[in-house]
Amino acid sequence: MAENKNSELLGLNFQELSELMETLGQPAYRARQLSHALYRERQPSLDLLTTLPLALRRQLSSAGWTLGLPKIQKRFVSTDGTVRYLVEFADAQTVETVWMPEGDGGEEGDGSEPETRTYDRATICVSSQVGCAVDCHFCMTALLGLLRNLSAGEIVGQILAVLNDQLVNLDTQRINLVFMGQGEPFLNFDNFVKAVSLLVEDVGLPESRMTVSTSGIVPRIADFGQLPVRPKLAISLNASNEETRLQLMPITKKWTLEKLMAAAREFPLRNRERLTFEYVLLGGVNDGDQNAREVVQLLRGLRAKVNLISWNPGPEIPYTTPNSARVASFQRILIDAGIPTFIRKPRGRDIFAACGQLKRTTELVSIS
Ligand code: SF4
Repeated sequence: MAENKNSELLGLNFQELSELMETLGQPAYRARQLSHALYRERQPSLDLLTTLPLALRRQLSSAGWTLGLPKIQKRFVSTDGTVRYLVEFADAQTVETVWMPEGDGGEEGDGSEPETRTYDRATICVSSQVGCAVDCHFCMTALLGLLRNLSAGEIVGQILAVLNDQLVNLDTQRINLVFMGQGEPFLNFDNFVKAVSLLVEDVGLPESRMTVSTSGIVPRIADFGQLPVRPKLAISLNASNEETRLQLMPITKKWTLEKLMAAAREFPLRNRERLTFEYVLLGGVNDGDQNAREVVQLLRGLRAKVNLISWNPGPEIPYTTPNSARVASFQRILIDAGIPTFIRKPRGRDIFAACGQLKRTTELVSIS
């Protein structure tokens, strides 16, 4: 293990760090120190792991170990406080990670130190793959195709890099994570599951504040339901019948809406847990009252809530955003049928950070 060249420490769990320390002839407590420095202190380089003796740091370095924290290559700041990060990994591939603060965002300190922003809470939207293979027709990420999976360490690293950039004093118990960035987490299942376990056990973020969204990878929904530690599940529905879903999400060819809804019905919900259905409203395509009534039928008997997202525009995508009266009418039909339904406020639309807009856009393009 110690001979691995160009291996990254970030992504190793406590057990693996313990094995590494043993291989290097180190006492067992070094694994705890290393884990703490990586995941709690979020140290950016081996040189800064000063809780470890210099000789051990040199030993790790000469055996080819690097820390593996990704770099922030660019950041775009929205007028609403949202920040879209372009995060770069060791092979120069990039993904986007979005920081969405909530609360007053006031500053502390006397100005002599880097500013420390304070918020009541914040949500980080996390990517799981570089690009995406799923090809949802309303999503800009789909235009990239799939370039590669992220490792567990890279998934976790995005979050640590963003927390470092935000100089967060925020109690980690008030950070929400949504695995809804670039990629389909259930097509990178093992790395996603390992990342969740690192985030819960080593970084200390609560699983109850994590949600993963899937486009409908049916077999993995069942696997996910069996995990002892897991985020909440959101299903990206976006259509009220097979025909429309097939038109918007070609993945429906492989896993039909019928199979998807069967998997949703069999999903083992925990006490007081609800499934979330995400529904992107596309003007004149899936946003009619009849569509809303079909959604009511689909969700009948399920403990579920619905998030409505007015489509966020992007260049090269030929849809329109419905007007607010249409969205309100759709919502009313679901609420009247007893389904808790929320209209998701777009975050960072002006910087291409909103849902479906993540495409590693390195310049700002004006939205008409
Ligand atoms: S909506 Fe999600 S699953 Fe669909 S193409 Fe975009 S990133 Fe992939």
